[in-house]
Amino acid sequence: DNVQPRKPSWIRVKAPTGEGYNATKKIMRDNKLVTVCEEAGCPNAGECWSQGHATMMIMGEICTRGCTFCNIATGKPNALDTFEPGRVADAVQKLGLNHVVITSVDRDDLEDGGAEHFAQTIRAVRHRSPKTTIEILTPDFLKCDPSVLETVVAAKPDVFNHNLETVPGLYPTVRPGARYFHSLRLLERVKQMDPSIFTKSGIMVGLGEDKQAVQQVMDDMRAADIDFLTIGQYLQPTPKHHGVDRFVTPEEFKAYETSAYGKGFLMVSATPLTRSSYHAGDDFEKLRLA
Ligand code: SF4
Ligand code: SF4
Repeated sequence: DNVQPRKPSWIRVKAPTGEGYNATKKIMRDNKLVTVCEEAGCPNAGECWSQGHATMMIMGEICTRGCTFCNIATGKPNALDTFEPGRVADAVQKLGLNHVVITSVDRDDLEDGGAEHFAQTIRAVRHRSPKTTIEILTPDFLKCDPSVLETVVAAKPDVFNHNLETVPGLYPTVRPGARYFHSLRLLERVKQMDPSIFTKSGIMVGLGEDKQAVQQVMDDMRAADIDFLTIGQYLQPTPKHHGVDRFVTPEEFKAYETSAYGKGFLMVSATPLTRSSYHAGDDFEKLRLA
């Protein structure tokens, strides 16, 4: 049925406005950049953008997958824009970011899944802003030769993030076209190739998973040597998307956080409004100073 549970008080967020917000928006527009903040209708846009944090989405606005929780359009993507890495680098410099998160749509249409484009973007940002730490949030490269991962790893992102999104039992309805163990193994391979890169993953809750399965995902992640974890409440972007099963309470999130630290994650963000890129820079800075 399509009746959605009512949003609890802890989910409501302020509409984005203000000077900082507009300044970030202008830099994105001027550089013709797409952000996941806008595309996904992220509830934190007001807060993040007013501080100059935005997650840029490269390789176009059309995805070759159709995950049922995601608001990005599915279809045949456009050709890669070879000037895009330069524009991302320009925006990062203008925003004066200490930490940038760069993500993309999935490009099953490209032989390397966009690995080289990711690498070029990392190199362009590094060149213009050598002190900025770079976090990438990648697709799963499922249809590519396993060697494409080396192309991305060789560009040395500081944090390699790839989201498992949900528990394995919900993959067929939430993330069709992806494979749970493939995604897990991807992150494990990154760590094996270059142990100096921090690995990160995340899931959404409230999709219908049970708590035991969430604990199992955390154990699987630690077995794959994943360093950072994010857990946030799933919100339905439109009535056509996967329904919200329930709103997980702030106390339950706190309990997930406690058990995640107990399992050995270096950094955990588990709150209702946690998103993969939420406060990513501040948290990373804390860890570097620790
Ligand atoms: Fe953008 Fe991430 Fe902040 Fe959401 S949490 S507004 S996606 S930077
Ligand atoms: Fe959305 Fe990523 Fe799934 Fe594409 S692969 S539909 S961008 S979540």
